[in-house]
Amino acid sequence: MMNKLIELRNISRAFGRTQQATRVLESIDLTIDDGDKLAIVGPSGSGKSTLLSIIGLLDPHYQGDYFLRGRNIKALENKQLSQLRNNQIGWIFQNFNLISHLSALDNVAIPMRYNQNIKSKEYNERALHALDVVGLADKYALKPSELSGGQQQRVAIARALINEPSLILADEPTGNLDSHTSSKIIELLLNLPTSGATLVIVTHDANIAQQCSRRVKIHDGSLVHDHQ
Ligand code: ADP
Ligand code: MG
Repeated sequence: MMNKLIELRNISRAFGRTQQATRVLESIDLTIDDGDKLAIVGPSGSGKSTLLSIIGLLDPHYQGDYFLRGRNIKALENKQLSQLRNNQIGWIFQNFNLISHLSALDNVAIPMRYNQNIKSKEYNERALHALDVVGLADKYALKPSELSGGQQQRVAIARALINEPSLILADEPTGNLDSHTSSKIIELLLNLPTSGATLVIVTHDANIAQQCSRRVKIHDGSLVHDHQ
């Protein structure tokens, strides 16, 4: 039996004033189980990042209900929400979003500063281990500008993993990479050693979507579920 991690019920999202609002998501229902590797596909502007922001607890301005491990997000206090964001969710972006003046090691260490379960004297050792997992231990002292795009994304993946989150959200993680580097990055993401981590990848690459265990498509604001 799979454990339900996320349940979205009748989720809608519109931007702008109610009269002339742009409705981006319409009555989305989606269940994500522990360990799922889910691809969200759809054309540019279809609402993929909007949906990911809701799933990642960054956007509270939706209608409908979002249950995380059975608890309605709307019932959580701000402190609980920020702890979930910091410790349970890891983000990976198209543009890597690394801090340019920090070394790879220090970039990877950042999320630990917001995690009270990790002592500061452990930061370097843990960050180095995370860099080793993504094959970059020898580059720990280099700044983002001294790394290739694929290497920068590996640093970003190490950063996303550093707090051992149960959910990893990747928004077009290979959008800025060539096809060879892309497949290496996807191979890494799909075979992460953090057993059971749930992965949601937004992509418009059909090959990437095919490698995931599940696929859903956003079309005209609605979610089209693939056969599983
Ligand atoms: P995708 O990630 O699939 O390319 P997005 O989720 O970024 O699409 O955007 C979906 C639609 O919502 C677009 O029309 C976009 O302009 C609109 N949108 C997204 N964020 C905002 C915002 N903060 N304010 C107004 N409109 C937005
Ligand atoms: Mg997007």
